[in-house]
Amino acid sequence: MRTAVVVGAGVGGLAVAGALARSGWQVTLLERTDRVRPDPTAVVLWPNGVRALHALGLGAGLAAIATPLPDGGVRRPDGHWLVQPRPTPADRMPVVVHREDLHDALIAGLGDRVELRTGVTVRTVSAEPGERPSVSDGRQRFAADLVVAADGTDSEIRRRLAPESRVVSSGCAAWRAVIPWYRAPRLPGDRPVGGEVLGAGYRFVAASLGERGSSGGSSRGGIYWVATAAGAPRPEPPETQLALLRRWYAGWPTPVGDLLDATDPADLVQQEIRELRPLPRAYGFPAGPGGVVLLGDAAHAMPPHLGQGTCLAFEDAATLASLLRESRLPDAVVAYDRLRRPRAATVVRQTRRMSAVLQARGRLALRARDAALGTISPRLLSTAAASAAAWRPPS
Ligand SMILES: Cc1cc2nc3c(=O)[nH]c(=O)nc-3n(C[C@H](O)[C@H](O)[C@H](O)COP(=O)(O)OP(=O)(O)OC[C@H]3O[C@@H](n4cnc5c(N)ncnc54)[C@H](O)[C@@H]3O)c2cc1C
Repeated sequence: MRTAVVVGAGVGGLAVAGALARSGWQVTLLERTDRVRPDPTAVVLWPNGVRALHALGLGAGLAAIATPLPDGGVRRPDGHWLVQPRPTPADRMPVVVHREDLHDALIAGLGDRVELRTGVTVRTVSAEPGERPSVSDGRQRFAADLVVAADGTDSEIRRRLAPESRVVSSGCAAWRAVIPWYRAPRLPGDRPVGGEVLGAGYRFVAASLGERGSSGGSSRGGIYWVATAAGAPRPEPPETQLALLRRWYAGWPTPVGDLLDATDPADLVQQEIRELRPLPRAYGFPAGPGGVVLLGDAAHAMPPHLGQGTCLAFEDAATLASLLRESRLPDAVVAYDRLRRPRAATVVRQTRRMSAVLQARGRLALRARDAALGTISPRLLSTAAASAAAWRPPS
């Protein structure tokens, strides 16, 4: 039986560990924290991410926990439309999912061929031609035919195998929250919330998770919002951060103020936005009978402006699982690198163009940004959406 060690039980690690186990591999999943738990927010899955989940055999459960996200358009803080809402065909409609629901679905998919070891922090990796690849936490060595590094943005494995790729700040911070339905404000028309507002260096996006009074398959419904602001994360306690957000976004169109007012400091999740520059020179490192591969944020951490990080992690997992079913192990490692690097590079390039538009500051830059949003951004967004929609798992 073939064996794999997967490092990191985030969405990427859970997805690939389950997929390998369902194909008959014996998998050890190593996670540094004591409990496998995501932050209590939500994630938007674009059609490529949904398709990848289906390819991983996890699509069936998704319908019960996902809420379609209609195109709500893009407004300026004064309410002026930068991009009008447009009807989205059902097959191109993204969905919103509570991260805890997504984790539950991925954990349910692990089956009994995955040995989950929590409290294990991987510190070293070995990927030598004549030896089975392995990782170690300093006390125990874990060797296997294949090692999957799904250990996130600060990946220790990437730092050792691709030291040229550095984690840098993207120059902004993000705040997210899910306001449960019982505390969510009643908004005009009480329609599902969607859409975004863009100011000078500030952005606010909101989305409904399920419907008020009907939780569907999830008990975690509510209204999800994410606010991005240029600058560093704030050192103050959540109460002060929330007060700052209310000041920064004062006067923005409905529902921004209502959502910030209804948010409890305990709901707030703050995060510095970081990215890899440059991307690693390789995603596959042949060793022994197989090798080491980089997956998810460990391979391509990027700002969330296009909401593609989780989607790409699922694409990585679906691609790897498919290649391993159909090719010899060493060939699969090489093919994974060949398929995934250009794909990640394209999405990162599109994300950086969005970063430049979103983070424009100053009066002239702002005018250029508004003009760009009126013309480039719809094109950029539809290019991103089209390349996302075009992605298919290899078969
Ligand atoms: C504000 C914000 C909004 C976002 N919105 C979206 C969105 O709408 N749509 C979307 O697709 N993406 C979105 N993303 C991106 C998405 O959250 C990430 O791309 C995704 O979580 C990456 O998953 P991962 O499994 O690769 O890494 P992670 O989730 O970081 O998981 C890595 C795991 O590895 C563990 N680990 C780390 N180091 C070690 C070690 N040495 N040993 C053992 N274990 C280790 C960690 O504890 C963790 O459990 C967003 C990101 C942010 C910041």
